[in-house]
Amino acid sequence: MAGASNVYFSDMRTRSKGSLLAKLERLVRAAGIEKIDMEKKFVAVKIHFGEPGNLSYLRANYAKVIVDIIKEKGGIPFLTDCSTLYVGRRKDAVEHIEAAYENGYNPFAAGCHVIIGDGLKGDDDIDIVINAPCIKSAKIGRTIADADVIISMTHFKGHELMGIGGTIKNLGMGCASRRGKMELHSAGKPSVDVKKCTGCGYCASRCAQSAITMQRKKAKIDPNVCVGCGRCISMCRFDAINVAMDQSNDILCKRTAEYALASVTGKPNFHVSFVIDVSPFCDCYGENDVPIVPDVGMFASFDPVALDAACADAVNRQPIVKESILNERADCKKDRFRCTHPATDWRAAVDHAELIGLGVKGYTIEKVE
Ligand code: SF4
Ligand code: SF4
Repeated sequence: MAGASNVYFSDMRTRSKGSLLAKLERLVRAAGIEKIDMEKKFVAVKIHFGEPGNLSYLRANYAKVIVDIIKEKGGIPFLTDCSTLYVGRRKDAVEHIEAAYENGYNPFAAGCHVIIGDGLKGDDDIDIVINAPCIKSAKIGRTIADADVIISMTHFKGHELMGIGGTIKNLGMGCASRRGKMELHSAGKPSVDVKKCTGCGYCASRCAQSAITMQRKKAKIDPNVCVGCGRCISMCRFDAINVAMDQSNDILCKRTAEYALASVTGKPNFHVSFVIDVSPFCDCYGENDVPIVPDVGMFASFDPVALDAACADAVNRQPIVKESILNERADCKKDRFRCTHPATDWRAAVDHAELIGLGVKGYTIEKVE
């Protein structure tokens, strides 16, 4: 695929035309969100609710602007994300919804309900066949796979494994069920932390593969029998089962791009990216560090690849915030994300996403006031 996609941009100045929410509305309408047929359709608004304690995640107020447009178009909106692979406050649907509420994503602020995409324990998914170079069949959370339309809202920031936490990451990693996240992140199988294991035996009773046995009152996983579904991670109420995030960053970037392709396959999709509070690390952490560059603005496009490329380029044109971790990298002359995360290159995901037909890296910017 070659060429250039339209990317629409609004800065964060309000001047005399009302609030940033009004500006977001003008932006997405100009970008063509209303062209999507939403009448009586389930519209998934894919968003990262933020780990409690983190304060750089997107405010629910922004989501309500999109939700209100969906309703105006006759659609049935819901906010969604899939649960995490690692231990935290978003590892099953109950905790995840509580975290979302805690961070303001309730029906009053956001205008619709939160539905966690991959079920109570992260194992409710659908195989989407894509026959891509790395992934033949992606495991996408059933609720997201079942939606008729998907609209992503992304807080654009740094990411320790992918370089940037952009739209490709929001779609690819965020729409993967736990089984899918295992495929993205790990070359291995889960293991038991014997210090935390109480010997309750619940995981052993629930593993469909009978891969877990109890030995001397501790659970033990047989890696030769385990199929890597990841179900036991959320089964253990004592956070004793974990998985090593040992996939190389290059492979992770490519696989995530392929999962992003799976998440939008067969359905109209539209994407908004907020280059504000550009923290060095993902909103998955329960804290956020000083932004590495000043706020840039809001971007919208039908093309998630062009969107990530435009947002990354915009960040790279910004001065470095003196108080940030990036300023500690004295040798950073150009790519802000490569300097922040030298062990990974964000371009791997963007290049691969273009290769597999998710979109194009080329873009033209249209400014919306
Ligand atoms: S559920 Fe957790 S605590 Fe219980 S046996 Fe399994 S690993 Fe140990
Ligand atoms: S990952 Fe799945 S197959 Fe492996 S031990 Fe856990 S529940 Fe069983």
